[in-house]
Amino acid sequence: MPQIQPTTDPHALARELSGKHLIDGSLVPAKSGKTFAVIYPATQEVVGEAALGDADDVAAAVEAAKRAQPAWARRSARERGKLVAECGRALQAHAEELGRLMALESGKALRTESRVEASVVADAFTFYGGLGSELKGESVPFSPDMMTVTTREPIGVVGAIIPWNVPMMLMAFKIAPALVAGNTVVVKSAEEAPFAVLRICQILNQVLPEGTFNMLSGFGPECGAPLVQHPDVGKVSFTGSVETGKAIYAMASEKLIPVTLELGGKSPMIVMDDADLERAVQGAITGMRFSRQGQSCTASSRIYVQDKLHDRFLDALVERVNKMKMGDPLAEETDIGSIVSQQQYDRVNSYIQIGRGEAGAEAHVCSELPEDPRLAKGFFVQPVVFTGLSDDSRLTTEEIFGPVACMYRFDDYEEVIQRANASEYGLAATIWTTDLKTALDATRRLEAGFVQVNQNLVVQPGLSYGGIKKSGLGREASLEAMLEHFTHKKTVIMNMT
Ligand code: NAD
Repeated sequence: MPQIQPTTDPHALARELSGKHLIDGSLVPAKSGKTFAVIYPATQEVVGEAALGDADDVAAAVEAAKRAQPAWARRSARERGKLVAECGRALQAHAEELGRLMALESGKALRTESRVEASVVADAFTFYGGLGSELKGESVPFSPDMMTVTTREPIGVVGAIIPWNVPMMLMAFKIAPALVAGNTVVVKSAEEAPFAVLRICQILNQVLPEGTFNMLSGFGPECGAPLVQHPDVGKVSFTGSVETGKAIYAMASEKLIPVTLELGGKSPMIVMDDADLERAVQGAITGMRFSRQGQSCTASSRIYVQDKLHDRFLDALVERVNKMKMGDPLAEETDIGSIVSQQQYDRVNSYIQIGRGEAGAEAHVCSELPEDPRLAKGFFVQPVVFTGLSDDSRLTTEEIFGPVACMYRFDDYEEVIQRANASEYGLAATIWTTDLKTALDATRRLEAGFVQVNQNLVVQPGLSYGGIKKSGLGREASLEAMLEHFTHKKTVIMNMT
């Protein structure tokens, strides 16, 4: 197969990938021939047309995956791992191009966000590629006359459904472990951001056998739901909203298949009086993902700062965010890009309006909207830090998925632990303190799947990642994620008598 060369023009790439799915190793149009428009959210210019998938396309993709699976599973696990690691190297060679394409279709700033995401994608493939030999079982001392072992078997065809905020990375954390474990995959991309993930598939297609990996674009009910419901799909791995997660869980329960659900969050950040102020402020900026317009499931969107530090923290935070430059996502000097779509733009603005209308609340608006007339129609929202919101405000309890940080004052440690845990979500939490005892206590008591002290790292290959409560079911990004979520455990007993 001829090697695809990296390109630096994301517009040309979006046009080239228009109207295509990847099924059985080939780029093909939707069976209906229909497409839908994909825009550059910073200008609303149409950059391409994605193939509009439906149940017929799902059927073709699942059939290809099902056909390819037995031969793929017959290869040794290490050999599959080597191929997946080779995908990592191929993706690294295309990282710049993928970053640019991501910035174009999602509005995420190239330097601070999209390029970073592209390098994590390659890293995820490299990480999982090395784990083939970890697909091992146990020997069980059941009886001296019997040899009893457990083995790890692939599930078969895995369906992966992804959102638009970090689609390349989230896809990588689903498909790389699924493939190493011996499954084949059908991915349904998010309607807002179909091209970068399709480009990834095209790159993988140079390395992996036909049909092991298939990709469809389209809308949730028409293309995502048939994938979940297809009788030959044995597992669904989903990342997205709680609402969709529940719908997928219900559909999967009809077939009694396992699901992994990575859902929303409303993550608390607790800053104690004894914290290093500079570090904590920087942690709030990274944690809130202002550079991604706050469109992060782990966003530290509830920031609790102890009395003595509160006012200094607020001043420093506003001052720092003010220095961040909002602008053209594709420009190197841009720190903050645009929101992904009109729908999200309206949603975020409606929350800001609710906050402004709340008695006692104050909105500290930061940074400046871009002045460039080319960006006049772009979905740019100035980051806002709210203070004075009540604990039962909708801004406190609901996921906004935008550049809206809610800051609260607290006095007592016990009180703040309760307030931090008073959420239906449980994805991430951080505590900032120089007191070891407080740090350790908080790591035990904070109700979240991912708790950090004095830092705000995002998903890293090797660290189990996922939520509790309404933030989801299952874990991703680790060895355990591959073993627990992409294999069946089989018990084998051989009677020697
Ligand atoms: P969404 O739930 O609207 O869509 C996610 C995906 O599901 C899309 O591909 C969509 O087409 C598909 N979908 C929608 N309805 C469907 C249906 N009925 N059947 C099958 N598929 C369907 O979410 P979104 O707006 O794209 O993403 C934002 C949400 O994702 C936020 O809530 C965010 O917190 C969450 N998220 C979670 C994580 C995590 O790791 N926990 C990471 C990123 C985003």
